[in-house]
Amino acid sequence: MTVPVTLQGARERRVRTGGVELCVAELGDPGQPTVVLVHGYPDSKEVWSEVAPRLADRFHVVLYDVRGHGRSTAPKPLRGGFTLEKLTDDFLAVADAVSPDRPVHVVGHDWGSVQSWEFATVKRTEGRIASFTSMSGPSLDHLGHWINKRLKRPTPRRVGQLLGQGAKSWYVYALHTPVLPELAWRGPLGKRWPRMLERFEQVPGGTYPTSSLPTDAAHGAWLYRDNVRARLRHPRTDAYAHAPVQLITPLGDAFLSERLYDELESWVPQLTRRTLPAKHWIPRTRPDQLVDWITEFVTSVEGGRPDGVTASGKYADRFGGQLILVTGAGSGIGRATAYAFAEAGARVVAVDRDAEAAARTAQMSRLIGAPEAWAETVDVSDEQAMEKLAEKVATEYGVVDVLVNNAGIGLSGSFFDTTPEDWKKVLDVNLWGVIHGCRLFGRQMAERGQGGHIVNTASAAAYQPSKALPAYSTSKAAVLMLSECLRAELADQGIGVTAICPGFVNTNITSTARFAGVDAEEEKRRQKKTARLYGLRNYPPEKVADAILRAVVRGDAVVPVTPEARGAYLMSRFTPKALRRIARLEPPL
Ligand code: NAD
Repeated sequence: MTVPVTLQGARERRVRTGGVELCVAELGDPGQPTVVLVHGYPDSKEVWSEVAPRLADRFHVVLYDVRGHGRSTAPKPLRGGFTLEKLTDDFLAVADAVSPDRPVHVVGHDWGSVQSWEFATVKRTEGRIASFTSMSGPSLDHLGHWINKRLKRPTPRRVGQLLGQGAKSWYVYALHTPVLPELAWRGPLGKRWPRMLERFEQVPGGTYPTSSLPTDAAHGAWLYRDNVRARLRHPRTDAYAHAPVQLITPLGDAFLSERLYDELESWVPQLTRRTLPAKHWIPRTRPDQLVDWITEFVTSVEGGRPDGVTASGKYADRFGGQLILVTGAGSGIGRATAYAFAEAGARVVAVDRDAEAAARTAQMSRLIGAPEAWAETVDVSDEQAMEKLAEKVATEYGVVDVLVNNAGIGLSGSFFDTTPEDWKKVLDVNLWGVIHGCRLFGRQMAERGQGGHIVNTASAAAYQPSKALPAYSTSKAAVLMLSECLRAELADQGIGVTAICPGFVNTNITSTARFAGVDAEEEKRRQKKTARLYGLRNYPPEKVADAILRAVVRGDAVVPVTPEARGAYLMSRFTPKALRRIARLEPPL
């Protein structure tokens, strides 16, 4: 039999165990730590074809077709042949064959992860597993306890979580019906599946899935039938992990709720959490990210530092490894935001028209936790420069996971003092800069089809009129409305949009803001006075950065930051007349 082109260069062997023969493939140097990749349902080991060769540069990589899948033989009879106990026998047989003297690092996706949870929590595998990376497949025991807790002690939140996961599990009920799933997979569903994966999961076409799919899927239905009901009814009470676990959760998973893992720390003493904006089939859609995380985790466990892999920030599990682009990152709110993401272990692209300032932000980001950080010098109002930037970022760093359109300039002065040039400048940067960012990076996010988030820095001035800031406020009101419209448009694609509306924040903006209708000397005086007032108010940009990260995690739409911004927001909704009266007051300059 020929080796499928998708796993070219792999060495193959057959491992006999419990009446079946498993097809095992190996890549890389057997002297290196062994990483065993376990595929899910309906899949074969080729689901790892983008991940395995990349890992093989550093590790001894082993993949096998689960019994009844790919080129492994199926148990006879099928019923009762797929229990977690038998799957554990298979795993141990493979591990003994490929790495008899050293424990192996297990990586499981979907059902590969479900069964690997069994491997990582039963007594007889103790000492054979060095670490476990789990993606999109919970332990059935943990799931059983999760459900029981919600049934026994229901609160509105818990009932909501239960119903939410229940709705996502429709296919599990379907797979428990006799014969029909087999007929569907061997018939129309099997034929359409590759196209469905492309359409709903944005899985790139090509050599995956392999031609064994209909048989894999028909046999694999027994994974569910042999285990799910039995385990959920009687979950093991001792299902504690005996190896460090890395949990990778794609936030846009159509089959599994993120909430399933809320109580995981009580089962796993050494847990590293990672999330990424992605759908279910991450071995196909995000192989580079997975390779980075598996490499980092395995290397740190081998080095005796199972907990030393994540960044320290409070959002480390949320943004670690993600690609974040911040404009206006050379100062104030933008810089603080870049640092907050860096602290959370994100990869940061710091964009500013001030090259030196952007470079400093990138350098500092690396020092405080960003695994990679780059500086890009671009004027956000320059359409062509932004197009070039978007192209460069996509080819060199990847598709941005979180975009923060933050660059902005201040302009004060009455409407009649504000010249058309003044208007143009402020709209070009504050509005067009945001439009370019959303258009170019937002499109890349949408085309990738795995979700993401856009944050636009508006201002409390977006909803708080003032006779002193007509142009600035107009630009920010436009940013707020643009964010709301875009949020509606991108909601179905899993891309969140947030408008951040700070009040007075102590940054450099006060010394660079222009004052229309006054001479240079008067402008300097006013800049100094504003800087003094903002200094007295002394609201730090770091707090705005924190609000930005929190808003991304929660998917908030409009976020007023600072008490005065929150107050004005409430007034704009409930007592707009009072706000209009305040708008007529002379600014304190
Ligand atoms: P800041 O002046 O400290 O930082 C702004 C950064 O943006 C600077 O590094 C600057 O070089 C860069 N920048 C300006 N124009 C640019 C352009 N055309 N292209 C690329 N980079 C450019 O100001 P900040 O207070 O941190 O402001 C950040 C954002 O927050 C702005 O959009 C501002 O309007 C908004 N905002 C600030 C306050 C506040 O009180 N500071 C309040 C509400 C909203």
